[in-house]
Amino acid sequence: MQLLDGKGLALEIKGEIAEQTKAYKQKFSREPHLAAILVGNDGASETYVNSKVKDCKEVGFNSSLYRFKKDIKEDELLFTIDTLNNDVDIDGILVQLPLPKHINVERVIERIKPEKDVDGFHPVNVGRMTKNLPAFISATPFGILKLIERNGIETNGKHCVVLGRSDIVGRPMSILMSRSFKTGNSTVTLCHSKTKNLSEFTRKADILIVALGKAEYVTADMVKEGATVIDVGITRVTDKTKKSGYRLLGDVDFKEVSKKAGYITPVPGGVGPMTRVALLLNTLKSARKEVYTN
Ligand code: NAP
Repeated sequence: MQLLDGKGLALEIKGEIAEQTKAYKQKFSREPHLAAILVGNDGASETYVNSKVKDCKEVGFNSSLYRFKKDIKEDELLFTIDTLNNDVDIDGILVQLPLPKHINVERVIERIKPEKDVDGFHPVNVGRMTKNLPAFISATPFGILKLIERNGIETNGKHCVVLGRSDIVGRPMSILMSRSFKTGNSTVTLCHSKTKNLSEFTRKADILIVALGKAEYVTADMVKEGATVIDVGITRVTDKTKKSGYRLLGDVDFKEVSKKAGYITPVPGGVGPMTRVALLLNTLKSARKEVYTN
């Protein structure tokens, strides 16, 4: 079994981004600039946004954090997005999800200019990705692609089974793995909560990508010998032995499945750091106008 070390790879890619940012600054006398919008004070969202801001600093990007109270009116949020859309100094806009229930998430996402949608959630970017056109690919699937590619894992002609069909992970992942690209060309099966006899599919997977949100759901008997197993899941479980009071579990029973898998991601230290670095890659691409060329 070989561990897919997302933490180490993300660090390596961050070094590359920092180098490229230096060159970008020299050429354009400015830094790539990410604007993040945070509504309310949900603990997990705060942590995610703060780490994105920290990542930007580490690679030499500029970042701006716009914080709003949880009772902000939707119009006010849309107005902020319009302002950022029109600000030539902003390359990327992200709205940290989830948003409070009174706000229409789809309306908010669609308000971001596709050219600045570095989260890749806008329907235009999703559509362009599906059609093999240049697009911002959402951070988690993009990070997973990089993890597969940089570890030299063959995807051509392989059977890839994706568990979970969410808009941010499972569905885009299934599309990306089926596209006619070097890291792609897989035969893909997408499973969800209505799938019958899940194990019959998972056992046939050369590449198994799991994004369910159910701690240690995938057990060794569900996995083919030598398979590549990518665990996206993150569940916090109480653990009094930890300083934080909790530990993180993936959707895969790592201890048992790692004895059978060819490659496997740990949790934490697998997909999570790759997701973070993918957002930086998208922001740099946006600053360089590589996706939507002028
Ligand atoms: P989500 O929106 O809740 O989607 C979960 C998907 O799993 C749904 O499509 C659901 O099916 C399916 N599902 C649930 N139970 C199932 C079962 N027993 N059998 C088959 N399918 C089942 O979750 P998400 O946003 O994709 O996130 C999934 C996990 O990844 C979470 O733990 C999340 O925290 C984590 N995550 C990690 C990162 C990272 O950077 N590491 C990024 C994003 C998410 P239905 O559609 O039929 O309901």
